[in-house]
Amino acid sequence: MKENSRLKAVRAVRQELAQVGIDPFGVQIDRIVSPTEGIIDGRPTILAGTNNYLGMTFDADCVASAREALETAGTGTTGSRMANGSYASHRELELDLARFYGKRDAIVFSTGYQANLGMISALAGPGDTVMIDADSHASIYDGCTLAGANTIRFRHNDADDLAKRMRRLGDEAANALIIVEGVYSMLGDRAPLRDFVRVKNEFGATLMVDEAHSMGVLGEKGRGLAEVDGVLDDIDYVVGTFSKSLGNTGGFCVGDSDDMDVLRYASRPYVFTASLAPATIAATRTALRKLEAASDLRKRLQANAERLHAGLSALGFRLGAPANAVVAVLVGEKLEALRFWDHLLKAGVYVNLMVPPATPGNESLLRCSVSAAHTFEQIDAICAAFGSWNGARA
Ligand code: PMP
Repeated sequence: MKENSRLKAVRAVRQELAQVGIDPFGVQIDRIVSPTEGIIDGRPTILAGTNNYLGMTFDADCVASAREALETAGTGTTGSRMANGSYASHRELELDLARFYGKRDAIVFSTGYQANLGMISALAGPGDTVMIDADSHASIYDGCTLAGANTIRFRHNDADDLAKRMRRLGDEAANALIIVEGVYSMLGDRAPLRDFVRVKNEFGATLMVDEAHSMGVLGEKGRGLAEVDGVLDDIDYVVGTFSKSLGNTGGFCVGDSDDMDVLRYASRPYVFTASLAPATIAATRTALRKLEAASDLRKRLQANAERLHAGLSALGFRLGAPANAVVAVLVGEKLEALRFWDHLLKAGVYVNLMVPPATPGNESLLRCSVSAAHTFEQIDAICAAFGSWNGARA
């Protein structure tokens, strides 16, 4: 068979990595020990590159709920909710989410990626305009592609730039869908949500906020940045995932629109894929109940984030944003970042290597994500591993 030319660029990156002898994208965790520890290459390794913000993956109540559902409802649903029917628990989880956010209704998707694809492509189509933050997650970009809408990027976290571009739309501005994230996954920086709400209200547009990295992390009840900023009522759709603070897989959207039920049938990523497995739903429902009451875990998470941020800052590293659950070390050059990442892994610390074009500002970074389940000893060990690097500090 002839070489597929579409794979040329990816093949070249794989070959480049093979030459250096480091493969940051093929890491295998041979055994997962706890939310914060795994065995990699025979070495006990601190996991500092998960999104397990509240450490829910091993929570005894979540595991017990999953086990019970597995035994009573089986391993999978084997089909889409529209074609094969919903289980009662799918709907119960939706009602839990709607109540949690104080919104009228919710739609559950099989992943957070699909929640963005599904909602954006159901809300917008050819001839419509979607305004997205330039640093948006790939699922938001891909949702816009699936929608076939006119997609306009505005400067990251810049509400004035958004307003300027909205003005250019004239009468069309009221039909625009604006999409931002609460906390950005690469650098951990927060959106100026109140400013975005002001722009949305000024033009009468629709606002969707992806709280993937802020749900469970921010807010007295864990409802994310929208709760902290007191703007939940002004946000038309909150999108999120079960794969981070809830410790599972799946995604959702909550909203007050009369069209919530219609939206699910207009969403191909909802209609044409298998629904969530019973054990996933059961564990997620338990996790959501615990998340709401987990202000002690949120405090511990913040204390861990501050300790890691202060420790890395004292070592002279350049960091992405003020202390947050995501602590990104800016490294600059890709090869340097690759070697640094490998050094950390050999020192028993796993972080995420992020390289352009997935990163803002075309800069490579080592992304640490902190969990409430990390101990101070683990945080200090992460700092010590970073401190043992002899290369440049960017
Ligand atoms: N939105 C954002 C902002 C994300 O960071 C992610 C995952 N990294 C997703 C959506 C997708 O979530 P999931 O892993 O559930 O597909």
